[in-house]
Formats: sequence, structure tokens, C-alpha cells
Amino acid sequence: MTYLVTIGLEVHCQVKTATKMFCACRTSFGDTPNSHTCPVCLGLPGALPVLNREAIELTLLAGLMIQCSSPEISKWDRKNYFYPDMPKNYQTTQMELPLCIGGGVPLYDHCYPTDARKNIANPGKVVRLNRIHLEEDVAKSTHLGNSSLIDFNRAGTPLMEIVSEPDLESAEEAFAYLRSLQMILQQGGVSDADMEEGQLRCDVNISLRHHATDPLGSKIELKNLNSISAIRRAIHFEIQRQSEDLDRGLPQVQSTRRWDDDRGETQLMRTKEDAHDYRYFTCPDLLPIRTAPLLDKVRPLVPELPHELAARFINDFAVTPYDASVLSSDRHLAAFFEAVAGTGVSVGTASLQTRSSSPALPGKRAANFIINNLLGTLNEQGIGIDSCPVTPEKLRALLLLVEDGTLAANQANEVFATLYQEPDREPAAIATTLGFKPAAAGELEALVDAAIANNPAEVAAVKAGNEKLLNFLTGQVMKNAATKPNPKQVTELLRKKLL
Ligand SMILES: [Zn+2]
Repeated sequence: MTYLVTIGLEVHCQVKTATKMFCACRTSFGDTPNSHTCPVCLGLPGALPVLNREAIELTLLAGLMIQCSSPEISKWDRKNYFYPDMPKNYQTTQMELPLCIGGGVPLYDHCYPTDARKNIANPGKVVRLNRIHLEEDVAKSTHLGNSSLIDFNRAGTPLMEIVSEPDLESAEEAFAYLRSLQMILQQGGVSDADMEEGQLRCDVNISLRHHATDPLGSKIELKNLNSISAIRRAIHFEIQRQSEDLDRGLPQVQSTRRWDDDRGETQLMRTKEDAHDYRYFTCPDLLPIRTAPLLDKVRPLVPELPHELAARFINDFAVTPYDASVLSSDRHLAAFFEAVAGTGVSVGTASLQTRSSSPALPGKRAANFIINNLLGTLNEQGIGIDSCPVTPEKLRALLLLVEDGTLAANQANEVFATLYQEPDREPAAIATTLGFKPAAAGELEALVDAAIANNPAEVAAVKAGNEKLLNFLTGQVMKNAATKPNPKQVTELLRKKLL
């Protein structure tokens, strides 16, 4: 039998601040264990927390980007439990009055898994959010045989918990949700949201039922999911497992299960009977926050969302929807593209300006080169667009040489390869060094006339309608030219003379 699937996600996302949530220790990843600690983040008795304003502002910014509202007053609570990674016996978090309430995350088509993009069940879907609250991350424990090691560098890192409503209906939607959310958080500079570095972590709640009118089935929570593709696999496994149980008349019991990526299966951790009672109460060490002044401060920083950017790229630069989705997927890439294509723009914190008086460059040409050449080269080198050695101004200068006919497309690729290695040089100078320069008008005409005179049979064939032989004649001209003219120009000249 097939069942209706209901999924809600709880995403924990580290906020991109220089220092921790309640102390001045540096946030870090991969440093010597326990090298960024103090009495506050070690949870020593009597140490008092001090709020990190930047973490609060970035969380409010995330909320504004996805249409959340905020209560007038937001406050801090203690969630009581003991665990070696939280030795002060409570986590400082937000229960009653979180920073952000409601809102929604749009699922972008290009954020679905590649094999699922042709068959999107709910195009344009927006997943409703319940809340976003801010809390402190715990220390990181590593288990080796019978001992456990604890690194407190991570303890106290600002952590947003983004809780969705149970709006997701498939593993593919959960995948698209996480990718879309990741992109939005990166766009706003709120988080790098890198799952490999543990900056983005996710718990999945999933239940099955027969009919839409039935109450929701027992909730199964999945833990230990550390990649978006693992989340997709875990949900597929769990749908299958629960369906088989239900088919055999075995009801599900509310429980928590662990995903074992090597075995490709979930395993029972605990049932509801073991659930903690955290005894939340208001944190006596921290004053509540008035959100209005902070919201006023961050509102001007709200950047265009990826879908807004994409729509503008299609409209202003006449690029295809696919190109627009690629270019809008990263704010640095979007800013780079706009600088190459030729309008001054500011996306988030990145700001690149080009002269408004410079000549026009079709957006399509800029998009094609960036997506097909530049991104390919950067991927090979394993570096991001924000570390690209070639500036947008230089790339624009290069593409303008193609636009005005000085360079053919393949010649531009060669110039680019050199420019990438020697980014201080000017594209025009590199073109000259490589011998790519248009022949003087008279010189080119003489070469074309000579080719026509020397190849009467081919010329006759062209005149009879075999235009393919234009390529042969172009080749003859190129062979005899002292410089390397743009073959497209040569072909045009031949065409003009013969047809
Ligand atoms: Zn500290």
C-alpha cells in the first residue's frame, strides 16, 4: 500500500560570527582542540554570559530574508540536562519567545536532486517555518574505544535552530529544502552553511498515514545525518521500513533512530518513554532583547534572494532561466557576473562596480563564458569565485574583444588561459603576444582576394551553393596571414565577396 508521507526538519546552523555566543573566544574549525576556551564556554561555575550582538542581528537578518516576524521582546531560557559536551548542566537557548516566528523557505527547482528535477510534484512550493531561535552549540565529542575526547572549541558557537512545519512530502522535497535554505543563508552572509564542517546539521521528523484526513502517524525522528544526500537516502529507507511495518499491521511507536550511512539503514536509539523533561525556565543571567531597533538596523542589509536575482538576470540581461539559476546560486558569483556584464551592483556585502560608460556586452556572452569556461577552470583548481585570480574588469575587457570582432571565441579561450596564469596583464596585450590581432583592413582584403584567385574550383562550388567550402577558403586565408586574424571576420568578408 502507498502512504502519505509527512516530514518536518529541524536544522541547526552555525551563525558566521568572529566570536562565540556568550564570550569573546574566537569561533574556529580544525584548530588545536581546546585552544579557544574560557570559563564561560567551558561552563565553569559562576561564569557570566555576555550576548553577541552580531549573532542576534544575523539571525534577525535570516528571518527577514524568509519573511519571518519577530516578537517585540525575545528572551533566553535554560534547557536543563547534563551531558559531557554541556557540563554546566544546561544549554542557554530560546523556548517561549524566539527571535523569529513563521516565515517560509521557497523550494528552488535547481535545488532538487538532478535526477528529480524533471518530475517536481509541487513546483513553486514554499515550506512554512515554525520558528528560528538562537542558542549555543555544544562541545564536540569523539569516541575512541572505551574513552571519549571532548573539544570545547565548538562549545558556545552561535547556533540558529530553524524549525519547519511538517510541510514536506518526500525525500526530494527535503533535499530541495536544505539546498534552498543553504543558498539563502549563504546569500545573506548569515552562515557558510557547510555541512562537511558541521556548520549545518539536520534532524528529520517523519511519519506515515493512509489518508489526508487521518491524524498524523507516530513521529519518528532521525539523527546523525551529515550530508544532504544521506538525508535523502535515510528518508527513502525510513518510508520503506515504515510502509512494510504498517502493511503488516505493526503500528509505529514515537521514537528516535540513528542513520548508519555505511549500512544504509536506520537503527532504533530510544522510544518516547526515554524522552527528557528539560524543565525550561527563563535564564536569570541574560536580559530580554527588544527586537525593533535591531530589526531597523538589519532591514537595509536584506539582499535579493536567489529567485529574485534570477528573475532580474533574465529580465535585465536576457540570459536563459538555467543560466540565471546558476548565476544566482552564489552571491559572489552573482556579483561577479553583474560586474562582467556591465552594471554596477551591490549584492549583500560584496560590491563590484564597473564604469557605466563602457560599451555594451551581451549578458548571454558573459553568462556563457563564466558558466562554461571560468567555473570549469575554478572547479578544476578547487577554488571559489571569491578567490578567482581574474578580476571581473579583466574578463569584461577580454569578452569585449570578442564582441568587437578582434578575437574569435577559441582565441579568447587561449587568451583567458594565459590571463588566468598572469592576471596582472591586460587581455589585449596577451592577445597581441599570442599573435591574435586583426589584420589591417587592406591586408585582410588582399589575402581574401588571393585565396579567391588561387582556388577557382572551391569558389565556383561556393557560388553554386556549397557554403561549407567557405570554411576551407577561410583556412587558406588564415594559413597565409602573418598575424592570426579572427576567422569569423575572414569568413564574413569571403561571404560578402562571393555571395
Ligand atoms: Zn569562551
